[in-house]
Amino acid sequence: MELLPGISIRKTNHSKIHEVDFDHLEFGKYVSDHMLLCDYANGEWGQAQIVPFANLSLSPATLALHYGQTVFEGMKAFCRKDGRINIFRIDKHYDRFGRSLDRMCMAIPPKEIFIESLMKLTEMDKAWVPQQAGASLYIRPFVYASEAKFGVKISEQYRFIIFTGPVPDVFATPIKVKVETNYTRAARGGTGFAKCGGNYGGAYYPTQLARQQGYDQVLWTNGQADPFIEESGMMNVMFVINNVLVTPPLSDSILDGVTRDSLLTLANDLGYQTEERPVSVAELAHAFKNKTITEAFGAGTAAVVAPVQTIHINGIDFHLPEYNRESVMNKLKQKLERIRIGIDDDLHRWNSVL
Ligand SMILES: *Cc1c(COP(=O)(O)O)cnc(C)c1O
Repeated sequence: MELLPGISIRKTNHSKIHEVDFDHLEFGKYVSDHMLLCDYANGEWGQAQIVPFANLSLSPATLALHYGQTVFEGMKAFCRKDGRINIFRIDKHYDRFGRSLDRMCMAIPPKEIFIESLMKLTEMDKAWVPQQAGASLYIRPFVYASEAKFGVKISEQYRFIIFTGPVPDVFATPIKVKVETNYTRAARGGTGFAKCGGNYGGAYYPTQLARQQGYDQVLWTNGQADPFIEESGMMNVMFVINNVLVTPPLSDSILDGVTRDSLLTLANDLGYQTEERPVSVAELAHAFKNKTITEAFGAGTAAVVAPVQTIHINGIDFHLPEYNRESVMNKLKQKLERIRIGIDDDLHRWNSVL
């Protein structure tokens, strides 16, 4: 056993990497050889350990399983043109992790533990970072309430885990979305800005209904009488209206997406006009009637951009023009990818290169 300052390491003798066909990856199917574990108890974080990926053993009374104190992050590492590994925007993900955990009354792993263990884990499993263009190593840090006690209470014990797995380039084909004005994903004063498990569980039912009606995803609104757009599925949403890149402003019901922030920054760099402002459903319908809306897409780590072809508003399907390489979303995606793999300069210092 090797001991780094702060991290103990036990390597696997049975790498599973030969079981992976890197030319036919599937999102979420493979996990890399190692994982990080770090436990919180008695008011402090213990020794961080990197160990072979394995199942957990836990009490059925574990608080997270009952009352939903779980928070996760989703980030990516890329193989650069020069062969080195780049982890994208660690700081921004860490900050959001902290805000989510804080909202759920959960213990926050110290930044040094988060960054050091994430870099060490990625380095140990660097053979798992796909070299195929657009593919990446997905990194999943999460914390759950690990205290075993079945009374409703804020847990006093937590477990922090990071595991990783290779994922393909997600070529999102244009999807149909339904503007949802009945169900909401998040409410004012709620947990919408936090990346907590419950937000996903609560979103499944309306999404399933939309699928039964022939749509791929829900375009969430705030559910008010004169509704405003919030997010698209589990991604932030962006529109191009009158040649301006428009996205709803951050609030406590909208998740502060790292992709959203990156695309807004790059759009400004590339000379596009951008606006973070409320977008009402009425404005969208109007923009379709005037043909001033030319693009709509989701923005998130998994696919970078997810193009929308159809938006259903109050009984009417509105269609967007076809996308091509000149589309704003594709220009932004391409720029982001060039920065991540080290072709274009990393002006904003988003990369952590191993
Ligand atoms: C994770 C997530 C996003 C996208 O965030 P990224 O940091 O860009 O991946 C958007 N909305 C919701 C609800 C999310 O959970």
